[in-house]
Amino acid sequence: AWADATGARDVRLANPRSFCAGVERAIDVVDRALAKFGGPVYVRRQIVHNTHVVRDLEDRGAVFVEEVDEVPPGSVLVFAAHGVSPAVRAEAEARGLRVVDATCPLVTKVHTEVRRHSSREATVFLIGHADHEEVEGTLGEAPADVVVVEDVAAAARVVPRDAGNVAYAMQTTLAVDEATAIADVLRERFPAIAAPKSDDICYATTNRQRAVREIAEGCDLLLVVGSTNSSNSLRLVEVAQREGVPARLVDSAADVDLRLLAGVRRIGVTAGASAPPTLVDELVDCLGGLGPLTVAEPATDPEVLRFTLPKEVS
Ligand code: SF4
Repeated sequence: AWADATGARDVRLANPRSFCAGVERAIDVVDRALAKFGGPVYVRRQIVHNTHVVRDLEDRGAVFVEEVDEVPPGSVLVFAAHGVSPAVRAEAEARGLRVVDATCPLVTKVHTEVRRHSSREATVFLIGHADHEEVEGTLGEAPADVVVVEDVAAAARVVPRDAGNVAYAMQTTLAVDEATAIADVLRERFPAIAAPKSDDICYATTNRQRAVREIAEGCDLLLVVGSTNSSNSLRLVEVAQREGVPARLVDSAADVDLRLLAGVRRIGVTAGASAPPTLVDELVDCLGGLGPLTVAEPATDPEVLRFTLPKEVS
């Protein structure tokens, strides 16, 4: 059965793929905190949703914890890229921790919107996945006012306090088409609904989904490098599947079931915003070990967005 995986292949790389500006910044924050304060530097939750990134930082002295109460008073604590609720901030302060906030500025923007709507007592429909850390944090800005809306069916039945005073916001890493369908239902039911000024689904999520659609046609299989808890990586798998291409999430090349490659001549490859580019290189190298490859990637404008670092580590 293993021999079936060998053969010549066309590899189509999605462009853009892999790290976004928020993830690069978050990793940089931990690196700089380690350099500036020395280890251990505590990090609440996975800094970004990728097992390789987490392991690598652990090797360099980062200590990952679930909750603030696991961190010794007086230590340095980094908040992960997905953001935290005000309650978590307050707890860290009460514990006397030196906080460095690696929340992506595009997540912070959504928190700010939710606070603004809540201050005028609007019900805020937060389109997203209730169990995702980003949504937990955003909801924490105004737990009494925010209602998480996970799908179109939920959008059709949610009941606000006052139908004339409603707003919506989104998790940054949703599938663009699904989130738009949910927002359409809300807009139709509540014509006065306040919408985000600019998209809440971030540029990196949007661009990576578009890039998958661009390479999907004609692919026999599409591999998405990313970890199982990475929302934007999972969405890339779904986007490919909706284009009619079998797709799989793989943590790294070692994770690829060779049986999947039998008969696959054209293979699409991409990576979620939290997955390191080196893992994509490794995957392509491994495919090259199975037979001659031609590797192509569509040209596109490079992503130039960069975020400034928090002052504590800049
Ligand atoms: Fe920020 Fe988007 Fe990257 Fe999340 S995926 S860290 S919101 S840029």
